[in-house]
Amino acid sequence: MATWEDAPLVFTEMVCCPHCHTLRKPIVIRTERGGDGSRSRKQVCRVCSRRWVLVIETEALPENGSSGFLSDTL
Ligand SMILES: [Zn+2]
Repeated sequence: MATWEDAPLVFTEMVCCPHCHTLRKPIVIRTERGGDGSRSRKQVCRVCSRRWVLVIETEALPENGSSGFLSDTL
């Protein structure tokens, strides 16, 4: 097992509501997997109650990091 010093760094921006820019975790209505391996999340902002869709391009992320990316940034 590698040490944390050897662990690669993956930088990503925090996901915020495109309407009001809050970083509060939105209400996920539905998650869909696209044919190209991406995932789309239909969600509603807890602050402004407006709808938006988050598209996650899973192929661009490390395999072990994709689930952590979702839980840490949403
Ligand atoms: Zn909002």
